Order: sequence, then structure tokens, then C-alpha cells
Amino acid sequence: MNDWCQRLLAWYQTARREMPWRGHPDAYAVWVSEIMLQQTQVNTVRPYFERFLATFPDIPTLAAATDDALLKAWEGLGYYTRVRNLRKAAQQLVAEADAQLPRTAAALKQLPGIGAYTAAAIASICFGEAEPVVDGNVARVFARRNRLTEDFSKEPNRRKLADWLRPFIQAVDSPGDFNQAMMELGALICTPRNPTCDACPLRQECQAAETQTQSNYPVIPAKKALPERTREVCLLKNADGALLLARHEGERLLDGFWELPARDALPFQLHKAKLCHTHRQTFTHFRQILRVYTAPLPIDLPKLPANFCWSLAPETLPLTTATRQILTSH
Ligand code: SF4
Repeated sequence: MNDWCQRLLAWYQTARREMPWRGHPDAYAVWVSEIMLQQTQVNTVRPYFERFLATFPDIPTLAAATDDALLKAWEGLGYYTRVRNLRKAAQQLVAEADAQLPRTAAALKQLPGIGAYTAAAIASICFGEAEPVVDGNVARVFARRNRLTEDFSKEPNRRKLADWLRPFIQAVDSPGDFNQAMMELGALICTPRNPTCDACPLRQECQAAETQTQSNYPVIPAKKALPERTREVCLLKNADGALLLARHEGERLLDGFWELPARDALPFQLHKAKLCHTHRQTFTHFRQILRVYTAPLPIDLPKLPANFCWSLAPETLPLTTATRQILTSH
């Protein structure tokens, strides 16, 4: 085994953080954790992971989950396509594979929502396959160690780095530990700002540390400004104190969630409406600005469309993040 790999693995044995999914005997649990960890920090994921596993303890239970139960369990984690794909993959496994996860990265990649990174993580951690993971943390470590200038948000460049790492992971006894060590090093030591090079097991061969150019790597291409979408929504309560909600429709991202209704979707006119709140949220491809209005309800309310409801306990429904945050501040 190469010298730096030995140092990396030795460091991992002393520095690794305890996580509820680390060392979990069930590959399903590791799969759920890896999907949750895409775009989400470890500390945010911990309580969600415990609750999700308690609600859906195995692949068949997840495959049979209702929309509301599924979205409620994921509410607040964002990127909801992840949990829809998780259920779709569980249904596929129940139908075709006796509810068992495949054991290789190549087969795992065929399931909905599992890309190269997640497939390599599950296959190495659960089944010992020597397939390297390359996520943002790993790319940062090796961009600095080897002074690489590629844009690692691009899949071909991640594949190239994985190809470089493959002979190293193939030479170690525990590919799962090797992958987790690289990710942990990026999360704890080789951080985006102010890396702790003195405590790094790769310090002696790191070219960026040697030349004091850590902050130059990885090279991040300039981002384009995100477009803004402004919507007017309504915070309306009836005489019983029930809140008017509408089910979000027509946009995959938030399909199925309940939210404050759009002003222009109401089947009645608002009079004396007052702006009470402005809510801003950044999504991957746009920024959303919600202008929230309150108003007295008309005396003769027309029948509401089927995708509307009055709720006395909105917190029990799967709500969009924006709606949850707006309700918390009112
Ligand atoms: Fe990152 Fe510093 Fe380690 Fe190099 S020596 S890999 S820059 S923490």
C-alpha cells in the first residue's frame, strides 16, 4: 500500500466522527444517508436520518409510502426529487430484486437517483468494492494536493480524478474506509477556507501547501447571476382560525407540497390586501421572492378548487420550506 494511503487511513481511525449510519449493518440505511447527504450537511442530516429510518425501516416499507408520509419525512431537507427517486428505486427493487440492493457500483447506478458518487459510496462502504468516490470534498483535497486546475463540477473531470485514485483504492484492504477517509479529510481538515495543513496526513506531498497556494484550488469558475422569480401569495385565515393552503402542482421540485396560495390563483378578489412579509429563497437555478399579503375574507366565499384546503393544523401537512418559514415568523 502506498505511503500516503497508509497515513490517510491511520488518520481516519483516530479522527473519524461518529455518525448514526457509520458502521450500520444495513446497506439500506447507508443508501438513505448518502442520498440525504447530497447537498446537505452532516449535522442537519442526523435527526432526519433517525426519523426516516423509524418511519420507513426497510425497502418494502419505503416502497409502499404514501406521498404525504414521504414528503413529511423529508420536509425541510430540500431537493425533494431525491426522496421521490428513493421511493421509485425501492419500488423497483421490490418488484425486480426481492427488495435487495445490488452490490456493485455499476448496478447501483442503474437505480433512479443514484449517480457515480453515491454508487461508489454504497458499493465500497457496504460491499467492499474498490471504487473511488469523488465529491466536492474529495475534489478539493486532490485539487490542492496535486495542484489540479480542472473544473470538478464537471462529470468528465470527476471521472478523470476517479481514474487516478482507482489504483490507490485497489491496493488497500478496506475501500470503504479509504473513501470515507478522503471525504472526512475534506470535511474536517482540508476545508474550503483555512485548511489545517499542519494536522493533514497528506501534508508532506501536498503541492498547494508547499507553495502556500491552497486558496487557489480548486479553481471555481465564475457563477452566472441567478434569475429572480417574484410571486404574490396570501396568508388568509377563516373565522375558525383555519389557514387557507393550496397544493403545489405542475413543478416537479415541489409537487405534492402544501403552500400559501398564489394571489392570482384565488377564486375570489382580495380587497384591502396588505403586504405583511417578503420571503427570499435561493434554489439551484433561480431566486424566489414571495410577497405575502393578508386581507379580510369576502363574506360570500365561492366554492374552492379541489387543490385548496382550510387547515387548523398546517404543521401536520408536508409544507414547502418557504411556507413553513413564513408561518414560523407569523
Ligand atoms: Fe489540504 Fe493542506 Fe492537506 Fe494539502 S496539506 S491536502 S491543502 S489540508
